Amino acid sequence: MPSITQLARAELRDLIPYQSARSIGGAGEVWLNANEAPTAPDIQAACTALNRYPEPQPQQVLAAYARYAQVPAENVLITRGGDEGIELLVRAFCQPGRDALIYCPPTYGMYAVSAAANGVSALTVPQRANFQLDLPAIAHALDSQPVKLIFICNPNNPSGTRLNRADLDALLAMTRGRAIVVIDEAYIEYSAADTLAGELPRQPHLALIRTLSKAHALAGIRCGFVLANPELIGLLAKIIAPYPIPTPVADIAAQALSAAGLAQMRQRVADTLAERAALQAALQQSPLVREVYASAANFLLARFSDGPAVFQALWQRGIILRSQENAHGLANCIRITVGSHAENDTLIRALRQLEQTP
Ligand SMILES: *Cc1c(COP(=O)(O)O)cnc(C)c1O
Repeated sequence: MPSITQLARAELRDLIPYQSARSIGGAGEVWLNANEAPTAPDIQAACTALNRYPEPQPQQVLAAYARYAQVPAENVLITRGGDEGIELLVRAFCQPGRDALIYCPPTYGMYAVSAAANGVSALTVPQRANFQLDLPAIAHALDSQPVKLIFICNPNNPSGTRLNRADLDALLAMTRGRAIVVIDEAYIEYSAADTLAGELPRQPHLALIRTLSKAHALAGIRCGFVLANPELIGLLAKIIAPYPIPTPVADIAAQALSAAGLAQMRQRVADTLAERAALQAALQQSPLVREVYASAANFLLARFSDGPAVFQALWQRGIILRSQENAHGLANCIRITVGSHAENDTLIRALRQLEQTP
């Protein structure tokens, strides 16, 4: 008799699920491992009529996000976090066992996980040493297999890099009529001028991933968006779950996207950018650190002389960071979320102590 596992789809047996910051664990007071905002927004949840199903795509949230992103409402799909947008794109465009997708490590882990979970082969085209795209290698990969999707993260997680606009334009030209280019803009509020939302009228094969989890400080509600042209949005809408956005989530998202909510968000981003500059300067002064990379997001990537030792020593002090030891080309690197002033200060003081211990 086959075991339950043997009955499952073959690609799931070997699947290593996404290692989220929360699933890795840890114990302590200072959590700088998940790129969350350090404080929660001021929100009043007033939910009524929970006996009724929610609107499949809550109109108020759709209209508010469209206004915020400066696109027509027909260009927006609301999803359960940005992660559901990634999954829907893979399911909509890649036929299991036949089609491929491309992603460029070191980058966000969900592109590989969604590919594997759906039996889609993932071609990796590593970034160049400066964390920019390797366009000739991407062109080569496009020709080698039936590639339907290319995932690009801008600003990139975990490096914090802003990608060159000319490279993104070249990528869009190279893929037109062949593959969908997905730009994951989860951190775009920290580098707002870099959005490609303004390109949507000209680029039918462009899709953007957005989220309320980072700058909007609402990781707990699981709310994200795909921005694309109506033809592409319509395909994703065919396969999304019937009522993906719970009524309380829609209520909270609408408040966050109100004028007052957006003003709070912009202040939070400004505070984070000031804290990031101070944290970067402090890290650069540490003899334990070899390099701190330029960041356009709410985190910093730092290369230490002995990354695993620093990561462990801080973990034991209850300061939980995100090791990048196993990411492509990132030996001895640690990703550090920019926290509150107090959290960053605790981190810096702990590093100063480690510098003293021989
Ligand atoms: C955090 C993140 C997301 C999406 O997060 P959700 O919480 O699912 O909205 C997507 N892409 C990148 C690069 C991220 O860092």
